[in-house]
Amino acid sequence: MPVRKPLVAGNWKMNGSSSSAKILLDGILTQAKSFQSADVALFPPSVYLQQVQAALSGSAISWGTQNLSQFKHGAYTGEISAPMLNDFGCKYVLIGHSERRCLYAEIGLDQLVLDYIIAEKYSMASQEGIIPIICIGESPEEHAQGKTEEVIARLLDIVIEQNGVSALSQAVLAYEPVWAIGTGKSATPEWAQDVHSFMRERIRKHDPVTADKIQILYGGSVKGDNAAPLFSMPDIDGGLIGGASLDADEFVKICQAASFNL
Ligand code: PEP
Repeated sequence: MPVRKPLVAGNWKMNGSSSSAKILLDGILTQAKSFQSADVALFPPSVYLQQVQAALSGSAISWGTQNLSQFKHGAYTGEISAPMLNDFGCKYVLIGHSERRCLYAEIGLDQLVLDYIIAEKYSMASQEGIIPIICIGESPEEHAQGKTEEVIARLLDIVIEQNGVSALSQAVLAYEPVWAIGTGKSATPEWAQDVHSFMRERIRKHDPVTADKIQILYGGSVKGDNAAPLFSMPDIDGGLIGGASLDADEFVKICQAASFNL
């Protein structure tokens, strides 16, 4: 059984201020020794990137942004490019988060078109040496209709078709069922394990080495007290954490749960 290092990613979404970011960063950094066996990365709002970079440089904690443009530069008001992320030392970037899919520029676009845009963003991040964390998950309606695997397979296949399976060796996947995000209703460890296993097996058809290597995170209402059973599942390699990443002690508990499961 291959050992994959767990990763815990904290998505701050559009929360906080420079003073609350400082308190949060200090709280996490002072306890960093307690989760040394896990990789940890923080995703602040982009305006706080410089502050986060200054605080985390020299520590084992990485950082990144919550989105990026599929274009390198130009007339794309409000967008942030992959070279800009490199300017601020970002190791990772979140791609295809459901809140981007459902709420913003993506409005009105067909889900299939969106999957192609996500594949383009993935390609842009990879070209610039930034590790994309691709978020995939079914909506409550798709869940009720039993379409989980269909939705996941569609995006995974497009990413592989557009970039080649070898590109996945420099990527992370996050299974994020939309019905579990911010609802307090996490998927059960067994449900998440089944979906993660489905994702890994889908990749294995193209390349067994990449399938064994790729980290697959679970995201959706992970807290300090439900993290350990989720992370103990064989195909769950850590978590993408929203709400609970805004509280240093809660977030540290989750990082510890990942660290002890190695
Ligand atoms: C997320 O934003 O990716 C997320 C999983 O949020 P939460 O942990 O709050 O459900």
